Amino acid sequence: MPGLKGQPGEATGRVTGESFRAVGGPLGEGRRSRYNAGVDSPDPGALSPRAVRLLAEADLCVKCGLCLPRCPTYALSREEGESPRGRIALGQGLASGALPVTARLAEHLGSCLSCRACEAACPAGVPYGRIIEAARGILTEQRPPGMAARWALRVAARAPVDRPNWWRAAMAALRAYSLSTVRPSFERVLERVWPRLARLARYVPRLEPGPAWKPYYPPVGESRGEVALFLGCVAREVDRPTLEASVRVLNRLGLGVHVPAGQGCCGAMHLHGGDEREALRLAKRNLRAFSGTAGPVVVAASGCAAALLEYGRLAQGEAEVVDEAREFTRRVAEVTDLMTRLEWPAEVTVAPLPLRVAVHEPCSLRNVLRRAEAPYRLLARIPGLEALPLPGNDRCCGAAGTHMVTRPEAADSLRGEKLDALGRVSADVVVTANVGCALHLAAGVTGRGGPTEVLHPVVLLDRQLR
Ligand code: SF4
Ligand code: SF4
Repeated sequence: MPGLKGQPGEATGRVTGESFRAVGGPLGEGRRSRYNAGVDSPDPGALSPRAVRLLAEADLCVKCGLCLPRCPTYALSREEGESPRGRIALGQGLASGALPVTARLAEHLGSCLSCRACEAACPAGVPYGRIIEAARGILTEQRPPGMAARWALRVAARAPVDRPNWWRAAMAALRAYSLSTVRPSFERVLERVWPRLARLARYVPRLEPGPAWKPYYPPVGESRGEVALFLGCVAREVDRPTLEASVRVLNRLGLGVHVPAGQGCCGAMHLHGGDEREALRLAKRNLRAFSGTAGPVVVAASGCAAALLEYGRLAQGEAEVVDEAREFTRRVAEVTDLMTRLEWPAEVTVAPLPLRVAVHEPCSLRNVLRRAEAPYRLLARIPGLEALPLPGNDRCCGAAGTHMVTRPEAADSLRGEKLDALGRVSADVVVTANVGCALHLAAGVTGRGGPTEVLHPVVLLDRQLR
């Protein structure tokens, strides 16, 4: 595609474990061996491939602790077990069989937000995200979650494609609920009888009905290329305005947008939970759905983009799809990043908007895709708009996949920091490039007296282009 450079997931020039050791690192090789002593002892033949991989990757950690100040759960608790270094050590103990599975160990591994701020800060290039996913996978093998939890996650991820009629009926009911006038009183009653469900209910935004997705949206004016849009499972319903705005802006920039049928969940929740088998199943489905398309696979939710970038790794050992998965990974493009790397047609003009906009940087955009600057560059296209980084952008907002519902105390505490920061910058609007963060922030801003609109940056741009 003309004018398009670089992709998320490319090498970023970070120091790797090997080069870190080669230059002697802060603690050096001898110290690394001492800190990791005891985990080299198990016979590799007796361990699962996942455990062997975890131990090899965790062995890069020199236990220097430079990641600790970046970890939100460590900041909340000040416990080593709630830190990246502590969780790596727990993962090593679990994988090698030196540590038994206990409720406490499960809690430390489960409370990680998978924000990967530690990974971004690590000078040794420790792949923390992969280590925690493997540790959770081993944990799940030994102590499977309840049937109900597994069933709910599996059904929710598969339903849009496997059970389209069920899914449509469920979404129609959710839409009716979101627009209902009795919703506030219902949620007040629910709060008393089932607080966890009441919390989930409050996250549901107003879901306006929309037309079915067309397979193709042609460019406006001269064609400058083709892209394929990834819808996601939750986002296709709750973040429809962002997806529709993305299509309109891409069309205005001269790109035809394909929306492949048969695409489904990205598998992020399964990956974070260590369920690589189900994540691979979902990956194969998406590979099939996008196989007939060309050009970038555009993703509007940075969390989904981060999961799609794992397909090449997930498919290792799957001879029939591994090449396709690697090629797919190369095609993944986060929407704000793609739009800023395109050459814009000269006839596209953006109307001015005198607004102070606070930019929230999702962890997936900042720490995994390493494209935190993309929303700022995109918003700079709007004359008169002032984009301000939300103070504390290096800390997770607490949404963290299902954490915002399953671990409400930590989620609310971290969101509270964001809301306080918002109050300080006196912005008119908040933007974020990830749907989970948007829902979590939106549920908190109401009633705080600050900005109440939480949008995707592309929605703001689309408004000014129309
Ligand atoms: S993960 Fe990296 S920064 Fe953290 S303790 Fe290990 S080597 Fe140090
Ligand atoms: S991923 Fe985030 S929460 Fe988990 S250990 Fe790293 S910094 Fe802490």
